[in-house]
Amino acid sequence: MTTRRQFVITLPAAALVLAATRTTFAQAVKLEETDPQAVGLGYRHDATKVDAKKSPTYVAGRNCANCQLFLGKTGEAWAACGAMGGKLVNAKGWCLAWVAKA
Ligand code: SF4
Repeated sequence: MTTRRQFVITLPAAALVLAATRTTFAQAVKLEETDPQAVGLGYRHDATKVDAKKSPTYVAGRNCANCQLFLGKTGEAWAACGAMGGKLVNAKGWCLAWVAKA
């Protein structure tokens, strides 16, 4: 049973978590190809421009939109990526961390 005191303490905490979550999404920025994380994983905004010699695991047709780590909905042009610290990646992009969407 939740006491009034527990409710009064819990409610502001929940509001803070919600506010922090909204702030995190509001501050999401597009990943630059020059970002050290992007460079390290060979990320390109346009998968068709991936250098196959430098990234031999690249296969045509693979891109962020069909990667498990792309956190966007179908059709979204940019969305957060789990491998890029939550920064936004292009749905047409690609990097070495690509994993087939389940
Ligand atoms: Fe794109 Fe997946 Fe690489 Fe993220 S991990 S940049 S979604 S290919």
